[in-house]
Amino acid sequence: MHQLMVVKQNRPIAGQVFELVLEGDTRDITMPGQFVNISLPGFFLRRPISVCDWQENELKLIYKVVGKGTDYMSSLKTGTELDILSGLGHGFDVSLSGDAPLLVGGGVGTPPMYGLAKRLVLQGKSVNVILGFASSKDAFYVEEFDALNELYDFGCEGFEGSRPEVKVFTATVDGSLGTKGFVTDCLKEIPRYSHYYACGPIPMLKALKAAVNSRFNEASDDVKISGELSLEERMGCGFGACVGCSVMTAAGTKKVCSDGPVFDAALLFD
Ligand SMILES: Cc1cc2nc3c(=O)[nH]c(=O)nc-3n(C[C@H](O)[C@H](O)[C@H](O)COP(=O)(O)OP(=O)(O)OC[C@H]3O[C@@H](n4cnc5c(N)ncnc54)[C@H](O)[C@@H]3O)c2cc1C
Repeated sequence: MHQLMVVKQNRPIAGQVFELVLEGDTRDITMPGQFVNISLPGFFLRRPISVCDWQENELKLIYKVVGKGTDYMSSLKTGTELDILSGLGHGFDVSLSGDAPLLVGGGVGTPPMYGLAKRLVLQGKSVNVILGFASSKDAFYVEEFDALNELYDFGCEGFEGSRPEVKVFTATVDGSLGTKGFVTDCLKEIPRYSHYYACGPIPMLKALKAAVNSRFNEASDDVKISGELSLEERMGCGFGACVGCSVMTAAGTKKVCSDGPVFDAALLFD
């Protein structure tokens, strides 16, 4: 859980958004959608950041500079050692995906969807991905998601079934990239989905859940599309000891850091 990791690369990838690659033990990370909590010198509270992707001895994070802590992170140089709590929280359950999973990421909610998409593709699943940003200058990882189409040949030698496909849809509020509007405006382009996964701002998650529900209600009252939503609430300790990140759900009060950040969509926003 407690790791020292070393900065391998820290580079800007969009307006105020950075990709941070760390070297160190990643064995505590077991599910996409988990997060790490980073201690920064001079800052009392750790800063939680979702796992974007991981492999043996390498962790990839993407963060947006929004305040003093993330601003400090943007100045981290290669070789800097960081004190990290790794493998925190309950992530996305890949076993629930069904045959046509839909992945939705909004802004800096996009990073955990990348690690999730990669693991679904490696299981042979075709995925539809919707990415939402304010503008093209804020967009990142669109090409990286698209490149997952090439992953399967390398990742799964000997597989003889059909090759999984990754279709990426992009929405920007100002229309400078992809569909003009919100992630929900891309839903109509996707004929069917078996389970949806999403991470992004709360208004996006609420709108997405409502749009998915109204769509299946039109089709048939009996069909329910299940989903999982990741909440990136402000938090204190990051491992369940304080109650700084409690949220109300249909199953009672839950802590985002240890019960989540990923929750069954049916428990939220009703
Ligand atoms: C489980 C989890 C996963 C996260 N994953 C990512 C990620 O992958 N990439 C990323 O860029 N950010 C992520 N965040 C948000 C990130 O932790 C905050 O942006 C960061 O801690 C802000 O630190 P700061 O010192 O720069 O800002 P502060 O000075 O603490 O705050 C500056 C501004 O940021 C806002 N802010 C602070 N924390 C949050 C938060 N949790 N959610 C929304 N707004 C916040 C404040 O309201 C304020 O307006 C995640 C948060 C959680 C809880």
